[in-house]
Order: sequence, then C-alpha cells, then structure tokens
Amino acid sequence: MTVVVHRASVVLSPGSPALTDGAVAVAGGRIVAVGPADEVLTAAGPDAEIHEWDGALTPGLVNAHTHLQYSDMAAVGLAAHDGFESWMSAFMELYPLPRDWGTSAAAGAALALRSGTTAVAEIVTDAAAGSAVHDAGLHGIAFWEVLGWTERAWNVDGERTVRAQLAALPTPPATGLSPHAIYSLDTAVLRDLSVLARTLGVRQHIHAAESAWEDAYVRSGTGDLAERWRANGRGEFALLRDGGVGTGVIRYLDDFGALTPSTHLAHGIYVDADDRALLRERGVSVALCPRSNAVIGLDPAPVAAYLREGNAIAVGTDSLSSSPSLSPWHDVTALHDIARAQGYADDDLHARLFAAATLGGAHALGMDADTGALRVGARADLAVFPVASDAPRDALAELVEAGPAEATLTVVGGRVRWATTTAHERITAHV
Ligand SMILES: [Zn+2]
Repeated sequence: MTVVVHRASVVLSPGSPALTDGAVAVAGGRIVAVGPADEVLTAAGPDAEIHEWDGALTPGLVNAHTHLQYSDMAAVGLAAHDGFESWMSAFMELYPLPRDWGTSAAAGAALALRSGTTAVAEIVTDAAAGSAVHDAGLHGIAFWEVLGWTERAWNVDGERTVRAQLAALPTPPATGLSPHAIYSLDTAVLRDLSVLARTLGVRQHIHAAESAWEDAYVRSGTGDLAERWRANGRGEFALLRDGGVGTGVIRYLDDFGALTPSTHLAHGIYVDADDRALLRERGVSVALCPRSNAVIGLDPAPVAAYLREGNAIAVGTDSLSSSPSLSPWHDVTALHDIARAQGYADDDLHARLFAAATLGGAHALGMDADTGALRVGARADLAVFPVASDAPRDALAELVEAGPAEATLTVVGGRVRWATTTAHERITAHV
C-alpha cells in the first residue's frame, strides 16, 4: 500500500502540541503516523511519496451547519437585512422559482472543499440536491429537512413520507433528520420525529433559538412570526392554538425528548444560563453561525458564556443565502471578535475556536472518533492553509483572526479533493 507523507512548516491539531516542521503519513485513507517530520519520514520508509508544503497543516474543517443546496441564492446572502422577517421575505421571493438544485448543491460542495472543509452537516430540502455531498466525496451527514407538517396531516401519511425521502438520499455520507424549527412543525410532529430518528438510528439537527421572533412564538404564541403563520393557515399548530408553552425553545425541545447526544442545534442565540446548563447536561452541541446571524440582522450568540461555561460548540457557515462565503475560518474570525467584545480575555481563545471548527464539529456530528484531529487511525481528513509565520503560535493566531478563504490542499479520506494549481502541479509531479 502506498504511503503518502504530507510535510508542512507548521502542523496544528486540537489537543496536541503544535509542531514546527511536522508531517502526517497516510495509507489506505487513514492516518498512519503524525509527528515531527524526521520521525514520520523514518516510519514511512524509503518508498513513501513525499509532499512538502509551506503553510499550516491542520485537520480538515468541519462545517457543522450549512445548506449547500442554496449556493445559487447568494443574492440574498450578499444583501443586508434588518431582521428575520425581512430576510425570510427575501428568501421566499427566490426559493419557489424553478432552478436546478442539484447544480446549486454541487457548486456549494466544491466551494466547501476549496475552503479546506472535509465534513459537513448539510441540510437538504430537495431530492435533486441530495447527492451533492456524496458526489463531492465530502464526509459528514446529509440531513433531510422536514417542515410544514400539521399534526393532522402528519397523522395521515407523515412518517411514511419522511421515511421514503430519507431512504432516497445516497450514502455515504451518513443521513440524518432535520426537523426545521419549532415554529414550522407542529409539536406532535417534532416529538414523533425525535422518536423516528431514534428508531432509525440517525442523528437530528434543528435550527433553534435563532431569533427573538421564535422566542415570543414558543413562549406565548405571539409576535410577527406567530401572526405570519396564522395568516398562512398554520393556526392549528399547538403552540399557536394554545398560546405557547411559557418556556424558551431549549426547554420546549427538551420536554418532548428532542435533546439527546444524537442531536445538535444550529444558532443557539436566545439561550440563558439555564438553557446552556441543560444543553451541557444533555450532551447537545451548538453550531454557531455568526456571519449568518449578522447578515440576517440578529443579535450575536453568547459566545463568551458558551466558552466560559464549557458548552460543546461547533462552527457553521449556514448557506450562501445568509452568508457571504462558505469558509468556516471566516466564521471563526467572527466568533473571535464577538468573544473578545463580550469580555472573553483568556489566552486560550485561539485554541478553543480552532478546536470548535475541527474536533468540535466532528463531535457535533458524532464523528469525533474518526475525524476532526490528526490522530493515528483516524480518517485522513486534512487541509493545508497559507500562513505567513512559521511559528505555530503565530500561525494559529493568523488562522483564527484572519482566516484564509481558500486552502492550498484539501484531502478527504486520503484523497486529494481540492488543490490550488501550484499544489496540483507538485502532487502530480510525483505520480
Ligand atoms: Zn440554516
């Protein structure tokens, strides 16, 4: 079996000492050695194929919340909105227009690879977009999004329909269920989807605590969102009929058993200390999407509190319909700035946000035994990023504070899935 060694001026992996002149050896799609370059080269033997890179070699980034399917809707994400209502109106103007969702999703998958991403939590609403992650060779989970069901309609043929939609997604990657949000599904449907996910042994991913609208909706069945839904014929949803449940979104989800270590949430903005404690207790990760929140005109998430209190966090770009790019480093930079503005002064900030964008994302997807860190036996999911400094500490600061939009090289499961022209020439020169 051919052993391929990637040697770089800096090697960074969450939880491991940073290396100057480090290397990773890959065989059969797995990491077989990682450490100082001289040791790895010796272990790899004289027949190894060796590639040397200027820059920082890291685990591939994990985008823990995205909709690659919406890559064709960048016009919405490049505009500024002054709240969830105006963003949703702009989104709904474009969404129903006929378009090729498969091509749109494939373009998004290519951008993800180009940004150094090797695994995604991808949400799919259209079967044509269902194979993009698979076809691009990305790891992660394709979540089938479920929304719009009233309890009455669900009881007719809901579960059968969703089972068939999920079964139509190609594997790998793994598949999962994404109950869209607490306001777009009736309470009994959300409860049944949690049971269905457990029955099928798949993970759940839910948009939660994203807007103040949603908060008023769940607490008291009031506000603009509630009125909009009533006007759209959803007045029979239990939350609207009963005037809410008097709690926030996190407690509501927990009350019918949706919060388990097999579920991860996106956004998590409108959460208090009790909510965060409940998320820790239930082992639920939150994928933070700060640039999407800013484009929509929402408040920033309590990043400093999540960090201080020790919640499991990950990083998501959301889609191009609410974000200017699919580069997780750009969201890491936004999280850095938010945490500092919220008073987080500890000097572990760079390391913790790097961990959130790699191992934290893998953990959110239940894949941390297999990806998210450079470890012997893990899948060879890695990327090389251009950095100016050869000193690991400075290189990490560069990545976190001014992350590059584009990787030099992206390797998924040992296969090169993206390389800049120069990098590509260097690789093919060996073959
Ligand atoms: Zn989203």
